[in-house]
Amino acid sequence: MSNSLRERLLDEMKAIRTVDCHSHTALRRDYYKIRQRSLFTMMAYFEREIQNATGKSSSKLYEGAESDDERWERLKPVLDRCRNMSYWRHNIVTYRELFDFEDNELTDDNWRALNERIVERTAEANWYEHVTNDVCNLETQVRNVPWFEDWEPEYFTCTLRMESALMLYNADTREGLEKHVKRSLTDLSRLKAGLIELIERYQQRGSVGIKLAHAYRRTLHSEDVPESVAARVFERALAGEGLSWPERKQLEDHIIFFLAKVASELDLVFQIHTGVQGNWGNVPESNPLHLIPLIHANRSTRFDLFHAGYPFSRHIGMLAKHSANVWLNMAWMYVITMEGSRQSLSEWIDLVPGDRLLGFGSDVRWPEMIYGHLVMARSCIADVLAQKVERDFLSEEAAVSLLHQMLRDNAVALYGLPAEAV
Ligand SMILES: [Zn+2]
Repeated sequence: MSNSLRERLLDEMKAIRTVDCHSHTALRRDYYKIRQRSLFTMMAYFEREIQNATGKSSSKLYEGAESDDERWERLKPVLDRCRNMSYWRHNIVTYRELFDFEDNELTDDNWRALNERIVERTAEANWYEHVTNDVCNLETQVRNVPWFEDWEPEYFTCTLRMESALMLYNADTREGLEKHVKRSLTDLSRLKAGLIELIERYQQRGSVGIKLAHAYRRTLHSEDVPESVAARVFERALAGEGLSWPERKQLEDHIIFFLAKVASELDLVFQIHTGVQGNWGNVPESNPLHLIPLIHANRSTRFDLFHAGYPFSRHIGMLAKHSANVWLNMAWMYVITMEGSRQSLSEWIDLVPGDRLLGFGSDVRWPEMIYGHLVMARSCIADVLAQKVERDFLSEEAAVSLLHQMLRDNAVALYGLPAEAV
């Protein structure tokens, strides 16, 4: 019985035109410029495991290799150690689902044929379009767009990445913004006006939000630092004085609170990276509970919190339960850990209204990897919902409506996407 329910849920999901709630996918025009698309270049997060296991990036690992045979000999020992890891299974799923790979492991006997298929297929002129549109069946990808960059609206919806706004004590960063908005940012109030102008320009072109990923390099904790304190610190930066970290943090915190207010005033979503960092990340700094002062002080700002705050996914569930302005975004999660994804979702469904759960965000560069991720996502969501129906007194009707909410409807509502029926 549970098997057939799981199957029904999977079928239902395949028909949903999914909104990808967090994307870094290469633009189509850039994709075909990448010269070597192969088994060895098409990596997603396993790249980080290569670095962790060997101390080298994959380009360093393959440096000097003159053939794919040599590259394979260098990759093999990494796989021997790390093939159990979820970031590698993401690759295997992608190979099986998109490149007719029929085995469960890469071996001396099968890698060459797979490599040839990848090279061949990815060279087809309609491949990019086929993968994102026909195979993934995506409505749009909410794409993280760095300052001054562009996107392709036929595939993407923009949110503007804002870490640079926290670093305007750096002369280079400041001059870049000055050039772009064509005005000098000679004090804190001019600086803020410049930021608003930048954000509004993107909004006029269709951007639906702003994004911060500062948890990669500093604590998520920030305080509402008074304007006068931040203005003095900025003056000192303008005078070319070196700032200590506590001083820089005062200015950064002030700008973070300012951005939260701007997001509310302009009706933009405020996306924030929480949890999971890169190698050597300072894990406690990424705890989403550090955001409480910001979230409480900005109750009319809609916060879209990423990556289940993993490993603080239970904490972020309670944070969202108690904060009606927080949406929980599963971006990146299924390739980090399928089991952690299932546990997070299963608890959140007990805790948080169904209209504040965002079930999928690809968070990868290659369109092919979106599909591998989506297959893993659907599998986890089907496991969780089938079990909720079977054990936790959730009705099948509620489970089916959650699928639509999590994979599409909530994102359409939150980001204000055109809501034409599928
Ligand atoms: Zn991301």
